[in-house]
Amino acid sequence: MSSIHQAGETRSQRYQGVSYTRPIDEAKRLVPVMDQADRLCGPGGLRRVGKEWVGRCPLPDHEDRSPSFTVNPEKGVWFCHGCLRGGDVVELARHAWGYHEREAHVAAAYLLMEFGHEVPQRPPAWFRKQERQQPIRRALEEVKVRSVQRRLMRLFKPYLARIEDADERHDEALRLWEDIGKVARLVVKAASR
Ligand SMILES: [Zn+2]
Repeated sequence: MSSIHQAGETRSQRYQGVSYTRPIDEAKRLVPVMDQADRLCGPGGLRRVGKEWVGRCPLPDHEDRSPSFTVNPEKGVWFCHGCLRGGDVVELARHAWGYHEREAHVAAAYLLMEFGHEVPQRPPAWFRKQERQQPIRRALEEVKVRSVQRRLMRLFKPYLARIEDADERHDEALRLWEDIGKVARLVVKAASR
């Protein structure tokens, strides 16, 4: 484990007995809000006014004509007086990149990557659980594929019946079964999305 993880130990959580630091906590700890604001606003985009830095709002859905965007590096927060949004560094990344509230951890992970930090890994127990569920998931998918395949195959029954030669009919049925299998796999995949 890296020093990042050890240093984060105090803030880390316990997940089924495994210590686990969440990307959101890690991003807040390691990425200064000023760095992210600077990157979004560009060179010279922010100027100092007292304890704060002020500039045009960098959020994509706010066309800011007057500088309404403020950053307070000391407190690690930002606020836009135009679109009335604000928060910490993760919230800034989330709004800037258009992630939903529920996806804050994804924005945090990208934020860590963007600034060259390691993204905390999921706890080993989580991976083990995923692995255990893998074969079951695959088997279930196979069942669904076969079911779709059989149903599609029925559509070709009249076509196959018209082939008089038995061997030829058999070969054609096998070819169809294989081709339909590919289609069925796509259908099942699309449906499970
Ligand atoms: Zn704004």
